[in-house]
Amino acid sequence: MQYNIIPVPYSISRYQGKGAEPCAGYSFAGEEDINCETDLKDFFCRVFKNESAVNKDKKLDIILELSDMSGDEAYRIAVDGAVTINARSSKGFFYAVQTLKQLILEFWLRQNTAIPSIVIEDKPLYLYRGYMLDVSRHFFDADTVIELLSVLALHKINKFHFHITDDQGWRVEIKQYPRLTEIGATRKGTLGNKIPHGGYYTQEDIKKIVAYASSKHIEVIPEIDLPGHFTAAIAAYPELSCEGKAVEVATSFGIKHDIACCGKESTFTFFEKVIDEITEIFPSSYIHIGGDEAPKDRWEECPACREKMQKLNLNSVEKLQGHMVNRIAEYIESKGRKAIVWNESLNSGILNDSIICQYWSDGKEPLRVLNGINSGRNTIISKFTPYYFDYPHGMHSLKAIYTFEPELKGAEGNESNIIGIEGHLWTEYVETKAQINYQTFPRLTALSEIAWSSKAQRNYDDFEERLKEFYPIYELYGITPTPIADVNPGKIAGTIQIIKFFKNAITRESIKSFFSSYKANKKVKSTRNEDKN
Ligand SMILES: [Zn+2]
Repeated sequence: MQYNIIPVPYSISRYQGKGAEPCAGYSFAGEEDINCETDLKDFFCRVFKNESAVNKDKKLDIILELSDMSGDEAYRIAVDGAVTINARSSKGFFYAVQTLKQLILEFWLRQNTAIPSIVIEDKPLYLYRGYMLDVSRHFFDADTVIELLSVLALHKINKFHFHITDDQGWRVEIKQYPRLTEIGATRKGTLGNKIPHGGYYTQEDIKKIVAYASSKHIEVIPEIDLPGHFTAAIAAYPELSCEGKAVEVATSFGIKHDIACCGKESTFTFFEKVIDEITEIFPSSYIHIGGDEAPKDRWEECPACREKMQKLNLNSVEKLQGHMVNRIAEYIESKGRKAIVWNESLNSGILNDSIICQYWSDGKEPLRVLNGINSGRNTIISKFTPYYFDYPHGMHSLKAIYTFEPELKGAEGNESNIIGIEGHLWTEYVETKAQINYQTFPRLTALSEIAWSSKAQRNYDDFEERLKEFYPIYELYGITPTPIADVNPGKIAGTIQIIKFFKNAITRESIKSFFSSYKANKKVKSTRNEDKN
């Protein structure tokens, strides 16, 4: 018998017993778990449209029992008149409730029958199951983020990577550096349109987002991108760059030349003070510090940077970045947290082993990533192809996402160092909540199954069948996903999408930005090659 549960559980078996009758209420017994109750109540209210319609007399009895399981997120559900959930922590109970929601929808609402007598035993494949939202290129308010988190939780996603700083906007209040948001949070326009775009989260907003996420067992991982993607901060405090010249918050996209100066000690003071406040408002075990796409032509010409290289006996600017990332990561570690960086930061060849690598870039040189995994470096797989959800389905189709195995040839035997996977939504061309939802779903639904379910349980055709029944759930959460007919476009439709996407992205400003990025990127590559030689 088919059960429409996503991500597909580790095992489902039927047994002789009494199913759970349809009703519009619920009661919890046993181990009290406030988050589960609030979460299920919210779900029932969505299903029955309002709270008063939720029937408290005719209840589904849910019994929570603490017991030893294979991990904090593992759970067991047994349906026999009542629903008995076994888990060893509140996380396990919470994930059981997410599964239960899908059973309730499927049997009570679609078929109007009892939930059959079944036993589900479930546990995740990866402990890191992530989704990233870029709020720098376009800002989305705290309520939008919170709505999104509620849907991530349904998918058993447990890491929300919050990309809050970049060239086009600094989006978080830092009390010791008020100009970061007074100046750095607003740009004059976007790609030549002269319509100001701005917004930021106060520390109170962040606390609200973090508290909500925590009630859904989601860790919010902030990213303070350094030393590149830093124009908004330099616009606020020009002394942070090598040249110290005034710049504006970027109005175009791509890679920028002005990056944080590594030669001046005051840059490190800045990052340490920012991290002091960031770790205060984000209790996450991880702090992301970027380290991607940083052209270093300014460093090569900067007396302070050159002096630092000499003093530290570093023979390349790439190694200077390695030094900077290591130093900031050590500061983060001194606060009991771990640092994550994008994979380019491995190019220095001197990155501390404790720093986690996030592997995104396509290309033929995953050697450093591979060596990292094989020598014990924790790594998150979030490859551009196919995990960048902002690109059209013609490039990154649902099937491509589902069938991509996050493994590396040559890492056999060290797979446990791949701690998980992450899907990304960059927002250069994503301006509205509706666009977030369209680009993200159902692609994230596919990714959630790759992140949670064991390889033996997965099958694309079977997933697509179950996915059709997941669409009413999107509707309950007010989401309009990509229609199922459009998730795997054929060659012609896909090519048209790709042409439209790039045509839309190409403006006079973006061409200028592309050539400047191209030049900058060439610099990055040339320093990388120097480093290899
Ligand atoms: Zn410098």
